[in-house]
Amino acid sequence: MYQSTIETNKSAIIVGASLCGLMTGLALARTGWNVRILERTGSNPRSGACLQVDSGDFDRSETAKLLRNLASGGIRSVEAWSSVQSRLRAEIETDPRIELYYDRRVETVDQDSDAAWAVTDKKELFRGDILIGADGHRSIVRRHVAPDRPNAIFAGYMIWVAIVDEKDIPEKYRPALNAPVVDMPSGIGDFLLGSIVSGADGSRAPGERRLGWAWYDNTRNKLLRQMGCVKGNLVHHSLNAPDIPEATLIELSRQAMERWPQPWLAATLQSIKTRNITGIPIAEYVPDQLTNGRIVLVGDAAHVLTPLSASGFNNSLQDAATLADCMAKDIGGNGATIKEAISEYEALRLNHVRGAVQSGQAFSRSFGRK
Ligand SMILES: Cc1cc2nc3c(=O)[nH]c(=O)nc-3n(C[C@H](O)[C@H](O)[C@H](O)COP(=O)(O)OP(=O)(O)OC[C@H]3O[C@@H](n4cnc5c(N)ncnc54)[C@H](O)[C@@H]3O)c2cc1C
Repeated sequence: MYQSTIETNKSAIIVGASLCGLMTGLALARTGWNVRILERTGSNPRSGACLQVDSGDFDRSETAKLLRNLASGGIRSVEAWSSVQSRLRAEIETDPRIELYYDRRVETVDQDSDAAWAVTDKKELFRGDILIGADGHRSIVRRHVAPDRPNAIFAGYMIWVAIVDEKDIPEKYRPALNAPVVDMPSGIGDFLLGSIVSGADGSRAPGERRLGWAWYDNTRNKLLRQMGCVKGNLVHHSLNAPDIPEATLIELSRQAMERWPQPWLAATLQSIKTRNITGIPIAEYVPDQLTNGRIVLVGDAAHVLTPLSASGFNNSLQDAATLADCMAKDIGGNGATIKEAISEYEALRLNHVRGAVQSGQAFSRSFGRK
């Protein structure tokens, strides 16, 4: 028997508490919905990449403006992923309409005419009026929404990502105060995207900042398959620091010395030396639908774009805001109206996100390898 949790009126279950799940929860709660968010990992903050929080569309709705301010802290620039996540988490903690459950891996989702629900690995059953998949590029909720085409497909390349404290690289290589915040040096058939972001305490003072870098690499597909990160045409997991073979790190150091100017050479070498580096195989997914009945997809569960487009976060924010604006119209919490609101969300977002993924596919087709 499942242990069932209390049901509430106008209640939403969200699977996944990364950036899109948190933004969707905040946006829905502000329209009067009660939200429970289920996250498979523990509460330790995520680290690794940098994120452009100001890219993409002009924010048309008040909800989108609000979310962008909450996520960016008013800094319209490139940010460490962990900084954005901690701002959103802090906001969630102040909202009595939101409950966030860590260490809950959702195993199945389903629905009937009255409700949708998720069952976790702890055999708890969470029921709500709607269920939202914000569970990323390997979404299990997508299997319910798009059973005929549930998987994002490996795009044929990976990105090595890391963030380095500026104080950990030699002073002579640290960027000037007025250095461009984003830099994109070309390599030898590859390239690097470097970002100068504020320190963990928000400081932008010289010596206190951080250097985030993403090295686009299309020569490691054999390694990704050997390590089980990619199987067939599916991405299974990232190549985490402890698992990167020593020989690969030595080769990366040599290649970095042949390719990158300062401060990126110092930053990459520091990351490699300290094994503060993750390899992320890149996948893509063009959706044919975003909803099925009471179940809805947002963020990378809905659409997976190349990170080069720098618009995955932005599209996630627009998904969250649009869904909340549609659900706000459902004053009475009546089932028929919920379904209309969900259909409206799909009508407003589907063509836009399909176009966003497809425009990035041109890059992946030229850069990606079999
Ligand atoms: C290297 C890299 C760089 C990027 N750079 C940019 C950029 O510069 N600009 C930009 O706009 N976008 C960028 N993106 C994309 C952007 O980060 C995402 O589109 C955005 O953060 C939304 O992600 P998400 O919350 O939908 O999914 P994710 O961040 O993948 O989160 C999914 C969450 O769901 C949880 N989860 C998964 N399965 C389950 C389950 N069964 N049960 C419970 N929980 C589950 C996971 O633990 C995770 O917390 C980048 C992506 C990558 C990989």
